[in-house]
Amino acid sequence: MQTFPRPAQERLYVEREPVDATCPECGGTDVKAYRVLSEGGWWQAEKCQDCLASLSRVPAPALGSYVPLGTTVPSEAR
Ligand SMILES: [Zn+2]
Repeated sequence: MQTFPRPAQERLYVEREPVDATCPECGGTDVKAYRVLSEGGWWQAEKCQDCLASLSRVPAPALGSYVPLGTTVPSEAR
């Protein structure tokens, strides 16, 4: 059974958020933050768009943008 509709877009891509930072490798200011799938799973990375140096790379949720129901705990319950 098909539960997800076929995407209408020809190509799918992640939105890249601009970051106000300067690349320490090449001095470029075109730095963007986005999720990347790499060795070790999903990462939230800030990368220079000119030379692809990583300014920041922290583990992101294991399932990417998918959050299964019942796996989040409300903050007032902690
Ligand atoms: Zn750079």
